[in-house]
Amino acid sequence: MKTLLLTPGPLTTSDATRAALNRDWGSRDGDFVAMSERVRARLAALAGVADTHEAVPVQGSGTFAVEAAIQTLLPRDGRLLVLVNGAYGRRMVEMAHRLGRAVTALEVAEDAAIDPAAVALVLAQDQAVTDVALVHCETTSGLLNPLEAIAGVVAAAGRGLMVDAMSSFGGVPIDGRAAPFKALMASANKGLEGVPGLGFVLVERQALRAARGTASSLSLDLHAQWQGFVANGQWRFTPPTQVVAALDAALDQLDAEGGVAGRHARYSANCRILVEGMARLGFETYVAPGLQAPVIVTFRPPAGDWFDFDEMYAWLHGRGIVIYPGKLTAEPSFRIGCIGAVGPDDMARAVAAIATFVAERRGVAAEPALARA
Ligand SMILES: *Cc1c(COP(=O)(O)O)cnc(C)c1O
Repeated sequence: MKTLLLTPGPLTTSDATRAALNRDWGSRDGDFVAMSERVRARLAALAGVADTHEAVPVQGSGTFAVEAAIQTLLPRDGRLLVLVNGAYGRRMVEMAHRLGRAVTALEVAEDAAIDPAAVALVLAQDQAVTDVALVHCETTSGLLNPLEAIAGVVAAAGRGLMVDAMSSFGGVPIDGRAAPFKALMASANKGLEGVPGLGFVLVERQALRAARGTASSLSLDLHAQWQGFVANGQWRFTPPTQVVAALDAALDQLDAEGGVAGRHARYSANCRILVEGMARLGFETYVAPGLQAPVIVTFRPPAGDWFDFDEMYAWLHGRGIVIYPGKLTAEPSFRIGCIGAVGPDDMARAVAAIATFVAERRGVAAEPALARA
C-alpha cells in the first residue's frame, strides 16, 4: 500500500513524478536549458503573471526562496511590515532581523485572520514601511489569510507586497491581477506535488531590475540569479537537475487535472472527508471552518487521558500513514495534511485507521460505519 505523507511537506508524489527523476541531465545541455525556461514560464503562468513577472528559481527548500526574496527585494533602507499569525510570519521577522533590515510586526492570534483594515491603518500611520510580507496559508494552523483584500490595501497605499504562498501555491487559486504582488514565494514540493530541493520567487520585472546589488548574500541574490538565466539560460550554480525534471512532469499532471481549479477541488474534497471523519471521532478543528484552507488541518487533542499523540503517530506510521505534530504556541495540537498526490480514498483510509486506533485505546470496538468512513 502506498505511504501517505499527510504532512506540510515533503508530500506524497505520483509514480510519474518520481519516474521523471530517473535520468541524468547536463546543466549546460540545450534540453535542460529549455526545460528550465519552460518551467519558469509555467510557474509564472499559474499565477496569471507571465506578462509582468519573472519566475526565479532558487536551489534549496522554500525557506531559501523566502530569505532570497526579502534580502533582494526589500531596499536596504526600507522597512518591512510582516503580518504575523503563525510561525512562518515570525520566521520572516527573524530573517529581516538577521539581515539587519528594519522590520515591524503586526501580530494577531494564531486562530485569527489578518484584518485588511488593520493593515491599512498601519500603512497610513507609518510612512517608513516600504514593503509588506504576508503568509497566504499559515501552515502553522492551516488558516487562509485574505490575500486579495490585503493586496488591494497594500497596492492602494503604494507599497510592495511579498507573499509567502508556500503551502497554497498550485492548490489554492492565486491571480496576480486581482491580488497584485511584488513577489510571491513558493516551492516545488507542496501544492505543485514535485519533489523537494527547489524554491522559487515570482518577481515583478520592474522590482527585479531595481534590485541590482541589494542582496547581502551572493547565493541568495535573485537579481544575479535572474541575470544568469537572461545571459545564457543557465543556473549560476549546480542546478537540482532531476528536481527540475520532476517539477516539469508534476506541472503536466497539474494541467491534466484541470489546473489549479481542478486541484483545489480535489484538496477541498480531501479536507472535507478528513474534517467530517475526525469530527465523528470527537476531534475538533482549531481553525474556524470559514478560515480553514484545504491544505492542512490542526486538530485539538480530545478530552481524556487515553489520548497520546506520539502513540497515535507511531501506530499510524506502522500502517504507512504519516501525520504531523502541532506547531501552535498557545495550546497542544496535531496536524493532518490534505495536499500532495492523495485523493478522497486515501483520506478515508487515514480516517478509518484513526477510528481503529481510537476504538482500541478507548477499549471499545470500532463501529463498522466509522471504520469504513
Ligand atoms: C513549508 C513552508 C515554508 C518553508 O518551507 P521549507 O521548504 O521547509 O523551507 C515557508 N512558509 C510556509 C507557509 C510553509 O508552509
